[in-house]
Amino acid sequence: MRPVRPAGDLIADIVPYDAKNLPAETFISANENPENPPQEVLDEIAAGLSDFQYNRYPDPLARNLRSMIAETCGIKPECVLLGNGGDEQLFNIFMAWGGPGRKLLNITPTFSIYAYNAKITGTGVVEIPRSADFKIDEQAVIERASQGDIDIVVVGSPNNPTGDLASEDFMLRLLEATDALVLVDEAYGEFSAFSMLPHLKDFENLLILHTFSKAYSLAGLRLGYILANPSVICEFLKVRQNYSIDAFAQLAGECCWRHRDLFMPRIGLTVQRREEVFAALSRIPGVEVWPSDANYLMFRIERAHEVWETLYEKYSVLVRDFSSAPGLENCLRVTIGSRDEVVRFLTALSEIVSERIGEPVHVTEAWEWEEEDDDA
Ligand SMILES: *Cc1c(COP(=O)(O)O)cnc(C)c1O
Repeated sequence: MRPVRPAGDLIADIVPYDAKNLPAETFISANENPENPPQEVLDEIAAGLSDFQYNRYPDPLARNLRSMIAETCGIKPECVLLGNGGDEQLFNIFMAWGGPGRKLLNITPTFSIYAYNAKITGTGVVEIPRSADFKIDEQAVIERASQGDIDIVVVGSPNNPTGDLASEDFMLRLLEATDALVLVDEAYGEFSAFSMLPHLKDFENLLILHTFSKAYSLAGLRLGYILANPSVICEFLKVRQNYSIDAFAQLAGECCWRHRDLFMPRIGLTVQRREEVFAALSRIPGVEVWPSDANYLMFRIERAHEVWETLYEKYSVLVRDFSSAPGLENCLRVTIGSRDEVVRFLTALSEIVSERIGEPVHVTEAWEWEEEDDDA
């Protein structure tokens, strides 16, 4: 075969990102919503399909949805930009503010995509690791960001996979200390009831990311949005793919947004269930679990990779294995799925631990589910 010349130097030693989506009966590894959108929303999407124009290019800026989101947030449409999932925006940040000679300040451990995108765009990465119990070293971050050579700071809030919110006070001090573009990744913000949105009017360097993939049950369609000042949005407009938000995603996004109130009880149930799973995990001997403001929990257990494997192979329960990630030794992350899913997970995990320690572990017994899922 005729050989091809090597691809660009920047990607020569990169291993393609692996989302680790193995098939499983209980799939609680990707922080998705366990349920489809409510029936009313599905019906409205279906109705919108009757005169759907497959042959036409979509509105590049998704103006209907953009206005709807802007109105809800109390900001101008020019402060909103939709994209092909939050992932597109996470790439475009590095197209616009990154590149060779520029730097990301990354607070690790966190979502691996930030450093990945930095790498493929030739952006340098400065890491400020979290403490052993995953707290942000606030002083170190602020001091480093204020030195003047940082172009992008990313703060996951709630942070994936550790689950913690960054404090508002820290965020404000950080935004004050630097003119770098500060991305607050609020992909799980709906589960935390906190947002930096009220501060947009005071900080041109603040950028907030949201997605329809988690709270709004649309991971299959790829829809996300950023909130920022128009000057920042304008830079994103220069680098984005013109037709990245397809017409079907726009239709479904509009239907979901119009019926946002229908998602609220589900979000409430997920939060409640998260606290129940937290309590249940805390009761399992040898398990250390961290509080979370998102729809997942991270926990640590001896020989975690072995636990992950047994959960998958013996019980067909798939959680996310972080045990070989730097700073996350013996850590696994479980998505707060449906009631049945988390019960299957807890039952399997308690059996595994019980076998290890040679004593029964009754984790679900003392555990009272207050409410059944609406449509589970
Ligand atoms: C899921 C997620 C996103 C966005 O995901 P999309 O499906 O591309 O919208 C962004 N940041 C974090 C930390 C996430 O976990």
